Amino acid sequence: MGSQRSQELFERARAVVPGGVNSPVRAFGAVGGTPRFMVSGQGPYVTDADGNRYVDLVCSWGPMILGHAHPRVVAALTEAAAQGTSFGTATPREVELAEEIVARVAPVEKVRLVNSGTEATMSAVRLARGFTGRSKVVKFAGCYHGHVDALLASAGSGVVTFGLPDTPGVTGASAADTIVLPYNSVEAVEAAFAEAGDEIACVITEACPANMGVVPPLPGFNRRLRELCARHGALLIMDEVLTGFRVSPSGWYGLDPVDADLMTFGKVMGGGLPAAAFGGRAEVMAALAPEGPVYQAGTLSGNPLACAAGLATLRACDEEVYRRVGEAASAIGAAASAALAGAGVPHRLQSAGNLFSIFFVDEEVTDFAAARRQNTAAYTAFFHAMLDQGVYLPPSAYEAWFLSAAHDDAAVSRVVEALPVAAKAAAATL
Ligand code: PLP
Repeated sequence: MGSQRSQELFERARAVVPGGVNSPVRAFGAVGGTPRFMVSGQGPYVTDADGNRYVDLVCSWGPMILGHAHPRVVAALTEAAAQGTSFGTATPREVELAEEIVARVAPVEKVRLVNSGTEATMSAVRLARGFTGRSKVVKFAGCYHGHVDALLASAGSGVVTFGLPDTPGVTGASAADTIVLPYNSVEAVEAAFAEAGDEIACVITEACPANMGVVPPLPGFNRRLRELCARHGALLIMDEVLTGFRVSPSGWYGLDPVDADLMTFGKVMGGGLPAAAFGGRAEVMAALAPEGPVYQAGTLSGNPLACAAGLATLRACDEEVYRRVGEAASAIGAAASAALAGAGVPHRLQSAGNLFSIFFVDEEVTDFAAARRQNTAAYTAFFHAMLDQGVYLPPSAYEAWFLSAAHDDAAVSRVVEALPVAAKAAAATL
């Protein structure tokens, strides 16, 4: 497979864009080689600038649950674009999208639309601090909540992929108010509350972490967070940017219904356009401007195109969509695990609902420390062998593999057929 055009584009990009990309993991830094510049997508496939077609197992890192260029989403966007792309006023689709979210996720009584998951978590933390009058934030190692200053400490996703030191550019003052705890450790959370209970504004957690690979909460973990926050007057923020509307019609909440005070959403609810949201109890949300004193705003928030794509996507996500995503995910997860086992590569398949990832380590992964013990060299070889055979995996060992309802039997078979060669390539590194 040629990659000359992608290479040329990458060189041009590096001259004018730091690292040649607008989000670090796209640069292939962790796996090496030429990052592919994609020019189009259709259903489960993406096509790069050299004309190579790949089965896409990244799906824009989650949003494309219906696959690329879904006719209903394209039609909704075309209609909305013809009516004007932004007004800076309230618009009807914002109301519809907010109603759609509130109807699906019981703890969300009111919701505010923003443009990215980062904005959603940043605003939720600010609101929690404003509402409680407290400053400290508890987060878990390996959870990624976007590039919010206070939440970058021991973060997953690109931060761990590149082994970045804990965040130059974040001042000591903002990091000092962040308490980082090991994921899945109730004892650690209890100890933090025992020590600083009346200073903790909120605990923020991924509803089911998937940015250090998929590391489900141990049974009862989220419920225990709920109890501890309630007892100490702190707010619980469930980050469902990745899981929301992907793992069920009401996200992780549909599988593990723990009532958070605030929740954050993104990805699927924007249908591939920049839309995200935070919402929660009406009493807490009432502290937000213009009702209350906590300021939050956005020129493009609730953008008509983003709302149109999000609404079309959510409305198309029927039972059949979730059934198909689940079926494709379990087929590919099981086949990958079988291929690696056949080649003698130590690994662990971890899944939670229709999310899964493969850890290149032979132990159950319940926290970030275990996730980091994996053999990233084996993943690199595996990744490139899949890429050479037309399967686009996440260019990092620390990410979930994303499926869509468009991953039909033909697409799944192409992945399954490529796996044994990739498993052998991984085995050759051991
Ligand atoms: N929260 C979670 C759980 C995420 O997975 C992500 C992105 O991957 C974010 C927040 C940040 O979202 P965005 O990249 O849209 O800023």
